[in-house]
Amino acid sequence: MTTTNDGTCPHLTTAEGAPIGRQHAMTAGPKGPLLMQDVQLLEQMQHFNRERIPERVVHAKGSGAYGTFTVTHDITKYTKASIFSEVGKQTELFLRFSTVAGERGAADAERDVRGFAVKFYTDEGNWDMVGNNTPVFFVRDPYKFANFIHTQKRDPKTNVREMDMQWDFWSQCPESLHQVTILFSDRGLPASYRHVNGYGSHTYSLINAAGERVWCKFHFKTNQGIENWMDEKAAGVIAGDRESHQRDLFTAIHEGRFPSWTLKIQVMTQAEAEAWSARTGWNPFDLTKVWPHADFPLIEVGQMELNRNPENYHAEVEQAAFKPSALVPGISSSPDKMLQARLMSYADTHLHRVGVNHHQIPVNKPQCPVMHYMRDGQAATAETYGGAPNYWPNTRAGAPMPDEKFVDPAWDLGQAVVDRYDSTQDHDDFTQAGNLYRMFDDAHRDRLATRIAGVLGQARQEVQMLQLCHFFRADEDYGRRVAAKLGVDLDAAMGGAAAANAVR
Ligand code: NDP
Repeated sequence: MTTTNDGTCPHLTTAEGAPIGRQHAMTAGPKGPLLMQDVQLLEQMQHFNRERIPERVVHAKGSGAYGTFTVTHDITKYTKASIFSEVGKQTELFLRFSTVAGERGAADAERDVRGFAVKFYTDEGNWDMVGNNTPVFFVRDPYKFANFIHTQKRDPKTNVREMDMQWDFWSQCPESLHQVTILFSDRGLPASYRHVNGYGSHTYSLINAAGERVWCKFHFKTNQGIENWMDEKAAGVIAGDRESHQRDLFTAIHEGRFPSWTLKIQVMTQAEAEAWSARTGWNPFDLTKVWPHADFPLIEVGQMELNRNPENYHAEVEQAAFKPSALVPGISSSPDKMLQARLMSYADTHLHRVGVNHHQIPVNKPQCPVMHYMRDGQAATAETYGGAPNYWPNTRAGAPMPDEKFVDPAWDLGQAVVDRYDSTQDHDDFTQAGNLYRMFDDAHRDRLATRIAGVLGQARQEVQMLQLCHFFRADEDYGRRVAAKLGVDLDAAMGGAAAANAVR
């Protein structure tokens, strides 16, 4: 095989740029052994050994693309965020979709929540909207997060995913019922990433130029329409192609069929939050709850389009580092306990996974000037600060300094008392799950119950009975259907309809 360059190709080099004459191992005689001085070979082997970075503990399997956000409606009365400053304004972005539970090699077409993380390169810093394709989540107390994720992964002993683990956990945590109902509904197994909605899920705050704060939820509605698969169809797809979502997204963009989403927001003032909370008993900062559209209508904001594939998966998708703490002036956090925990946790995981200077990697790098006094660490390029002073305060001319105009309005927490509050007490975990169930037609309810019974049936009997009570609490018909699919004789198991009513 020809390995010589006839002058038409660039010459091969070492990582240090030195030209390579021949790429064969250097040996003492044609049969070996190798020589220690073959630094070309050593360099290649050493780099290969370090090719992988730790995979994400959650959302390990993903696909990404670049795109553009365009403002179509004025929301400056709610926010001073520069991304929304005028109709027609465009901002570059990178979006990563993912599944939640599967490892990097898992199949795409699994019944699972989908991650929907967008990095907007705004001219006042990166804004990361790290959401999912569902408006709610399984838990509301961050103490439960790691435990929940463990139930989605492999059993420590059998090393396989055990259905008993997740149902054991869900039956002990009825706040999960709303998300569980979405997961096993007809929207639990997306046909592609292009056909999912994205939701910020958490409540955030928007702050306007006058320093007024409103609470906000973000919704990205797919312009492709929602499309999902039935389990049988997905099983067939997986048998032939484990990368169906990756392939679909890449191909659509490659062929110029750019997928797009309409960004909408819901907005709630503090006074509305208090009145709504008093009326419904629901906490507007509870991640297991939606804000009903009838109470808080969707307000259209803009269009998001994906129009460019990454050139290199590892550099741009695997190393993409999204964190809800990447907020910009005009968009801020809320008391949501899960959001508060994620503000720390996501940034922390990137420090571990990609390193302390992950924001200097092109896909993560802000497209506006960056100036701070954080320095050094592994793989620092020092590109933005060079030889500038590394301490503050200083008296050097032109040194970056804070600017009062970016100060957020203060939060009045009243007479807040610090405690470890029990997030399972005095919560209505059932009405919204029931509302969703009651939206489904008869055939959809039947499919939902069939799917649930298919996996709940693999859990221990006592777990099944506990979980059945939750379905009854959401809607009696929901409980009866799942019980029937499980083959549970309600009369025998609970003493008839009276018992079924008693658990409501
Ligand atoms: P609405 O009738 O105003 O909205 C219902 C929403 O449910 C729509 O956004 C619809 O999305 C979405 N939807 C339809 N089927 C499913 C499904 N299988 N899984 C998840 N979402 C679905 O009612 P409400 O606002 O009062 O909400 C009622 C219930 O709808 C909630 O309890 C919640 O479970 C669910 N929901 C509510 C959302 C909200 O922000 N209010 C957002 C998403 C779901 P689309 O219009 O795209 O078809």
